[in-house]
Amino acid sequence: MLQLDEGNALGKPLQELFTVRTQSGALPDNLFAYCLQEAKAIEFGENARLQRQGHTLLHVEGMISPLFSNERRVRGGVLTFRNIGPVRQRAMEALAASEQRIREHEVQLAHVGRLHTMGEMASGIAHEINQPLSAILSYSQACLRLLDEPEEEIEFNQLQRAMQAIANQAQRAGSIIHRLRQFITRRPVNIQAISLNQVVGDVLELADHELQRKHVKVQCHLAPDLPLVMADSIQLEQIALNLLRNGMDAVEFMGHLGELTLHTSSDSGMVRLSIADNGKGIAKGDFEKLFQPFFTNKASGMGLGLTICQTIAQSFGGSLKAQNLPHGGANFILSLPIASMNQNDYGHHTPHPNP
Ligand code: ADP
Repeated sequence: MLQLDEGNALGKPLQELFTVRTQSGALPDNLFAYCLQEAKAIEFGENARLQRQGHTLLHVEGMISPLFSNERRVRGGVLTFRNIGPVRQRAMEALAASEQRIREHEVQLAHVGRLHTMGEMASGIAHEINQPLSAILSYSQACLRLLDEPEEEIEFNQLQRAMQAIANQAQRAGSIIHRLRQFITRRPVNIQAISLNQVVGDVLELADHELQRKHVKVQCHLAPDLPLVMADSIQLEQIALNLLRNGMDAVEFMGHLGELTLHTSSDSGMVRLSIADNGKGIAKGDFEKLFQPFFTNKASGMGLGLTICQTIAQSFGGSLKAQNLPHGGANFILSLPIASMNQNDYGHHTPHPNP
């Protein structure tokens, strides 16, 4: 381990050959002399490293113990150490593997959360798709009737307008299905620079029908020139949709007076999305439980929405916080760091290639 031959080592002071260091620097410089002088054993302790002249550091564990003569006098010492590099390496690998498993689990949980959210909105979305389909049906029937006319009386202009309307409606239905599929399909996390304003727009499209059905008004204040954030757009949509749904639930008792206010802004390196409602707010004792798994006040709630949202926000280096507003209602604030040109700035938040 020392990579010294006898000739180079014999007769030299120990500290010239190697030193043992700990992170806290707690060990005396001249270990051997200290041990002899104090006549007691010294353990290297945690995180000890062996520094050898001209070699890389070695992680070691070990101790130095005095040797006593029959008269109980110190006559030397024994230094033992073991290279724990390979053990450390295996421990690091096991740690990395379990972190990876946790991340995969989070992605699966996020996916299940999305299916759940969508499950509850499915009837609204079915209705949303049904509208363009019925429009297509009635336009096509009108076209067929027009084509039934004798050839010289066919109004080609009218026919063209109806066909155009069919194309537009089909496109609308297609885009709703596309968004829905994107939202619920299990897919790799895809981290890129995205706009929170765009996320808000997409989510309002998904929630539009439910908002109308529940007579919830939405006020949107989107900051122009909002900086981008590094994140997965579907996971951010998931956060925004969850907060919108919670907001809708919170104002349900207000009938036609329920209102949600969405705000985007940025300051001190962060981009923020706040979703506020004018509902009953959060009970004092519930604040510390809000983000805990399975905390719910709803008869059919899973109590996972906010937990998943917070985990997602943190995985992008951000946070999700809740507060009550002075004039009533709750406000949830999602903060994410502004995307920098250099993705490595995100350190441990760099994308992980999960299924
Ligand atoms: P779930 O919606 O299934 O209950 P969540 O984790 O999304 O799960 O929410 C947990 C609880 O937090 C809700 O049951 C509710 O009591 C509370 N909560 C969430 N959003 C609001 C809000 N906007 N206003 C008041 N309470 C809220």
